[in-house]
Amino acid sequence: MAALPSTFAAQEGTVATVTGDVAVRDLGMVLMHEHVMVDFIGADKVSRSRYNADDVVRVALPHLREAKELGCQTLVECTPAFLGRNAALLQRLSQESGLHIISNTGYYGAAGDKHLPAHAFRESARELAQRWINEHRRGIDGTDILPGFMKIGVDAGALSDVDRKLVEAAALAHKATGMPIASHTGDGVAAHQELDVLESQDVSRDAFIWVHAQNEGDDGQLKRAAERGAWVEFDGIGPESVERHVQLVKMMAEAGHLARVLVSHDAGWYHVGEEGGGNFRPFDTVFRQFVPAIREALGEPAVTQLLVTNPARALARR
Ligand SMILES: [Zn+2]
Repeated sequence: MAALPSTFAAQEGTVATVTGDVAVRDLGMVLMHEHVMVDFIGADKVSRSRYNADDVVRVALPHLREAKELGCQTLVECTPAFLGRNAALLQRLSQESGLHIISNTGYYGAAGDKHLPAHAFRESARELAQRWINEHRRGIDGTDILPGFMKIGVDAGALSDVDRKLVEAAALAHKATGMPIASHTGDGVAAHQELDVLESQDVSRDAFIWVHAQNEGDDGQLKRAAERGAWVEFDGIGPESVERHVQLVKMMAEAGHLARVLVSHDAGWYHVGEEGGGNFRPFDTVFRQFVPAIREALGEPAVTQLLVTNPARALARR
């Protein structure tokens, strides 16, 4: 019997969702990078008293249900701690929408460190890693909800001391937990320095997701990251950027790197502090516009690879 094409091969492993462990082969179509809610006030002022959870549900739930109706089965929620992460709220939204939702641990050092708590500057990489390992073992913020991955963030250019420390902490926590590391990354220079840190810590580069890679203008940097084994995530898909994302995916496919590409909207964003959460962007363009365009350009197997197989591989604890 002929071997199944690799895109349809069963995926091994599990990932923690906000309602418990799920085998990655059962995740179905995955949106790898979205946000239900974000609070940009800063780490020193962020607080649950700044919003009403029922109002967030009122706004976000119809969009989650719409994604489900369009075929999405899993949504990876990338809002980190100190930026509005609320695992209990995500659990409620998962139960009410029927979507698997995956939350995270880790700290966000981009945006000039505004979203880092004071202890992130004081503590060592090992101490920070231990906090994230503890969340992986015991749960997030006093719940028993476990993170499925790490979300960190670094600014563009050469890594600052604190950004480098976050990457080192993520490497240590990865070795203890197997959780993948998704990093909001300013540009290719930062991405490759992050990969250098992981290499020096002996962490497999396929544990690393270069978040917002669509912002890198140099295709060479993107291909080199894939050659080094990293996941390259084009996560800014919206009505105005479908074409650019299709081009990026085609460029990577032509270079033989389709198996290293992830896609998503980076949409949603109930903005805490704005009336009614401001302008919530829907999770639909991937299904309504991007998938048909990829199907036409690269065929149905590429759609499965981008939305099912690659996410399963990227999310599996290793
Ligand atoms: Zn994001």
